[in-house]
Amino acid sequence: MNQDHASVWAQCLTVIKDNINDQAFKTWFAPIKPVKLDGNVLTIQVPSQFFYEWLEEHYVSLLRKTVRKELGADARLEYSIIMEHARQGVSSSPYTVNVPTTEVRATRNAEVSMPIVGEPAPIKNPFVIPGLRKLNIDSNLNPNYAFDSFIEGECNRLARSAGFAVANKPGGTAFNPLLIYGGVGLGKTHLAHAIGLEIKNQQPDKTVLYVSSERFTHQFIDAVRNNTVNDFSHFYQMMDVLIIDDVQFFSGKEKTQDVFFHIFNHLHQTGKQIVLTSDKAPVEMQGMEQRLLSRFKWGLSADLQVPSLETRMAILEKKMYADGIELPREVIEYLAYSITTNVRELEGALISLVAQASLNRKAITLDLAKHMIDKFVKNTAREVSIDYIQKVVCDYFDLPIELLKSKTRKREIVQARQISMYFAKKMTKSSLANIGLHCGGKDHATVLHACRTVNNLSETDKHFRKYLEDLEKKLAIH
Ligand code: ADP
Ligand code: MG
Repeated sequence: MNQDHASVWAQCLTVIKDNINDQAFKTWFAPIKPVKLDGNVLTIQVPSQFFYEWLEEHYVSLLRKTVRKELGADARLEYSIIMEHARQGVSSSPYTVNVPTTEVRATRNAEVSMPIVGEPAPIKNPFVIPGLRKLNIDSNLNPNYAFDSFIEGECNRLARSAGFAVANKPGGTAFNPLLIYGGVGLGKTHLAHAIGLEIKNQQPDKTVLYVSSERFTHQFIDAVRNNTVNDFSHFYQMMDVLIIDDVQFFSGKEKTQDVFFHIFNHLHQTGKQIVLTSDKAPVEMQGMEQRLLSRFKWGLSADLQVPSLETRMAILEKKMYADGIELPREVIEYLAYSITTNVRELEGALISLVAQASLNRKAITLDLAKHMIDKFVKNTAREVSIDYIQKVVCDYFDLPIELLKSKTRKREIVQARQISMYFAKKMTKSSLANIGLHCGGKDHATVLHACRTVNNLSETDKHFRKYLEDLEKKLAIH
């Protein structure tokens, strides 16, 4: 046998790559290092205990199959886990913060003005375009919001690829208009900019304009006041690509909808691309004229969903990389576990954490992260997730999490499972049925029974009570 660990693992990776999505591959397999091959036992090194558990929980059969394929039926896989805590205090540890410049951030959310509109007094009518020359306007695009920095995941696959198709062939696909909709902070604005940027990148002389629906509305009101509505419409009708963000703000504004309707028709008829975003699906938009809604449906409506844990971690990692920040893995995991429904909050928490640490010259630790997050997400309904509770309980009792989620009736697992259910009931808003589902597919009666058992035991058994107190502290938000 002349195989070595590196080539065997490289072979395994090619198979694995074909069987899972890119994001999962990057998150869970790219960081693995093969360390040795001893007969038919392959040892791989994983970055943390959590990592190991995740692999065992989600990818065990894929891993097993692949390794057997390479090394024969009785091949085995062994893990070597890097102990995170052991490295703390070593100067070259990854527990360092390196914030490049604080100013970078400040420019990010700054309002970009539209020069034609914002021009001071001398120009009487901002929408009159002198002569018939090609328009040369500021597209209002934010260079930070490119496709490159937009992480792809199951949650945004359709919207992202439709956006990409549109960017490659504005006006030339069936996705016209392209309507991107989804909840707050899920990347609508980012994607809208990415489309515009990509078009400008490929075809610099296309006239592309990004405008928020509020700004559009205000411009329109001014135009009415100044008697320049025709010029206003004319200006918008000259776009090759018109991107309007948050069209839900048009709700109830009939006159604005009316003028937009005509602009829309003109652009659509002349094969120009329209990209819209909204926080609601077209069917749920109230106060919007029917004829406009029906236009929205001409093209494609693609939604953005809440990103999965893997995608959230990838977004954080991308962000960190872009900003030159390094964080301990457990902190990233904690952030990604805790903030689940809004990418903007996720990024906000990361930034505050880094800022806080660099201000106070403290290392970024899990404790600091917990403390921070509590402050950061105070006003939104925040709760620990069932997943997180299970992880903490399993770490505490040193049990593999997959057993807790399995149906096994081994005593210590049953106990850990009951404790997880108890905390899930106490600390989350999940239904009993949902808690049961997460904990080995039990029904709601089992969860209730578990809660009762835990309560009883905590009254009668002082060791048990100590477990609960310890866990309660670990799960506490600070
Ligand atoms: P929305 O317009 O839907 O409220 P934004 O586009 O403003 O959300 O996104 C909020 C923040 O989250 C932005 O900083 C954006 O870059 C980031 N973001 C959202 N989705 C992703 C993603 N898939 N990859 C990278 N960053 C993302
Ligand atoms: Mg937005």
